[in-house]
Amino acid sequence: MGFRMTFLGTGGGRHTTMYQTRSTGGFLVEHDGRFLHIDPGPGALTNMQRIRYDLTRTESVVISHCHPDHYSDAESVIEGMTRGGWERRGSLYGSETVIDGKDGLGPAVSAYHLSRPEHVSVFHPGDVLDIDGLRTEVCRADHSDPTNVGFRFDTGHGILSYVSDTAYSDEIADQYVGSRVLLLPVTTPMGNRIHFHLCTDDAITFIDRVRPELAVFVHLGIVILRKGADDQARMAERATGIRTIAARDLMTIDVGDEIAVGDAEAHDEPWIPDSAPDPDI
Ligand SMILES: [Zn+2]
Ligand SMILES: [Zn+2]
Repeated sequence: MGFRMTFLGTGGGRHTTMYQTRSTGGFLVEHDGRFLHIDPGPGALTNMQRIRYDLTRTESVVISHCHPDHYSDAESVIEGMTRGGWERRGSLYGSETVIDGKDGLGPAVSAYHLSRPEHVSVFHPGDVLDIDGLRTEVCRADHSDPTNVGFRFDTGHGILSYVSDTAYSDEIADQYVGSRVLLLPVTTPMGNRIHFHLCTDDAITFIDRVRPELAVFVHLGIVILRKGADDQARMAERATGIRTIAARDLMTIDVGDEIAVGDAEAHDEPWIPDSAPDPDI
């Protein structure tokens, strides 16, 4: 039993992604012993290797929108979920650009990779998904991929929300009221608002409106990293009185009666999982 999120990446935006100053591998969620991968961008595979997570255990993949910091490792992750592509297995959920392609964006994965999961579907704001028993509400976003969405995951111990890339508005923020944990994509620092993204000023307004127990800055762009993401999170904490941290790669959050923040055990030596093909058989 339980709900654990591991941060396979905490970077976002094109510069952090292209330099890999932070990984951009998205989130691995373990809920009641089942595994879900959200937004497997660049670095997802490398960091799963580092924490010795065997991706053939993944049962579902969720891709919020069709920007490469959210999807570019997805084809390999789908090959993992489908045991090298040999088994039709698992579920892939994505926005319209991710699955079908639209207006010059996407699709994010090839026709072959769309053919391998047992279940493939497009989500829209307002949908409620049952992801291997994890109740997930799909929320609206305001982003340069207009099909992007955010998520409220019902952990069994309250709501953890992942607000994917969006501009701020009160209407966007109000969808997340009631969240215990709020993951906010804070791409830029205080005083540096760019279109379709949150800066620290927006994050403060967002956190103040939702009032979660814990707010977490994710999707860190290169300018907020240069300014110091921890300092920016502290500014938000001081302004709102809400515990606020900047996520670090391979951080973990366990949501139970308590909310516990830790770090996954990481290894640097190469590892071959038991599920890999064995030359002796
Ligand atoms: Zn992004
Ligand atoms: Zn984006």
